[in-house]
Amino acid sequence: MSVEMLSSFPKELTAEVDTVVFDVVGTLLEPSPSVAKAYKNSAETLGVTLPEADISKRFSVAWEKQEFFDSQQQPAFRTSRRREYERWKQIVCEVFEGYTVAEKIFEDLWLHFGKPSSWRPVAQGCQLLEAAREAGLKVAVASNFDERLLPLAQCVEPLIGIENIFASSEIGWRKPAVEFFRTVESRLGKDPRQLLLIGDDPRLDIAAAQTAGWKSMRIQ
Ligand SMILES: [Mg+2]
Repeated sequence: MSVEMLSSFPKELTAEVDTVVFDVVGTLLEPSPSVAKAYKNSAETLGVTLPEADISKRFSVAWEKQEFFDSQQQPAFRTSRRREYERWKQIVCEVFEGYTVAEKIFEDLWLHFGKPSSWRPVAQGCQLLEAAREAGLKVAVASNFDERLLPLAQCVEPLIGIENIFASSEIGWRKPAVEFFRTVESRLGKDPRQLLLIGDDPRLDIAAAQTAGWKSMRIQ
């Protein structure tokens, strides 16, 4: 199901649901400035000038390459703190391939995206979070963001006060692995049918949640 502006949940969607689990990036938070702008700013402080449009294109290619790499591992989409660090290093170094300061840009960006001031709330996601609470449902967060999310969640709205925050590197799996969803279920002590995932990504959130037997709702 896709939603545009919604202030309450359709009953058929939440009949058995006990907990609404939110994705983070693109659902509750978005980078501010944008990813391309942040990359451009970091690069400029290190003497590299690349247009945002080029950065965006290179970022998409580099991101997909890492996604493909993870999909080919045995088991697929297993992750760790080290793998998440390495994934982002590879992505940034590929965006700035050929520049000697690429690793320095990565180190700067790694810190940047761990800062509360680099993120802003997504209005629609915040509204759905509020609607879930008003409907008497529990809420949790499950993200492919690594463990940098945990300290961020303590000081960035709308994450403050959410008790159950699951980050990929901490649980050892990335979405779309079914094990990611099974781990969240077992930590929450719920059955798949009691869980509704709200996310922005058709594959990593919506299709993956459905495969795991969860209900899902896409934010756009
Ligand atoms: Mg997302």
